[in-house]
Amino acid sequence: MKFQRSLFVVLFVLIFALSACAPAATEEHTSAPHWTYEGEEGPAHWGDLDASYSACGTGENQSPIDVSAPTDEDLSNIAFYYQPSEVNILNNGHTVQVNYDSGSYIELDGVRYDVAQFHFHAPSEHSVDGKLFAAEIHIVHKSADGALAVVGILLEEGAQNASYAPFTDNLPAEQSEASDAGVQINAADMLPAEQTTYRYSGSLTTPPCSEGVNWLLMTTPVQVSAEQLHALESLFEGGNNRPVQPLNDRTLVEDNTP
Ligand SMILES: [Zn+2]
Repeated sequence: MKFQRSLFVVLFVLIFALSACAPAATEEHTSAPHWTYEGEEGPAHWGDLDASYSACGTGENQSPIDVSAPTDEDLSNIAFYYQPSEVNILNNGHTVQVNYDSGSYIELDGVRYDVAQFHFHAPSEHSVDGKLFAAEIHIVHKSADGALAVVGILLEEGAQNASYAPFTDNLPAEQSEASDAGVQINAADMLPAEQTTYRYSGSLTTPPCSEGVNWLLMTTPVQVSAEQLHALESLFEGGNNRPVQPLNDRTLVEDNTP
């Protein structure tokens, strides 16, 4: 009897110790410091959360921005070499992302940037003349020497968009590891028909807010249905968009030639 009781105590202490350890163990697996879109770990405080996030607070070339009064220029067009990809999709707690199959890329001023992934923000991160859009897609590209280029697509409410359905129909509601949804998507079909862009030098819009990112924001929004927007909007309560940042000394250019 006495033995049984002490065994029970040992078991109880073990279970208690394990449950107390669980959050710490989870924390250790997260390499980057925690951040959110509101409150004490929200965008206004990102720069103070960790030394590696300092650009979020002190950077002069941050994204997103409000697009207004761009300088018109006849720039060389972006050449798109996009192919279909498996929808290898995950919810990382900040967005839902599709890790894109290798082989798709853009060419910009003679440099090849390979598609790494795309993800969304709702509402949009960039605004145009002070107005946010319902959502924004970011197609993230990387060159061989590590330079980043992001193609931004503004989404507004309209007709159902079949090109987006493989993404909006397969959004993991909870934080998840990447898994194959068993369908394909073609980023080429997610672009607007007219492929002129606003261009500026900016940053990642999430910590660590690293600068030197080539931003290519499509001037023409793309329509998706109210249901498709709702699927995006309902994932992250309160939104997953960073507020617009000052343009400072940067030049915002609009490529006015299709
Ligand atoms: Zn983004």
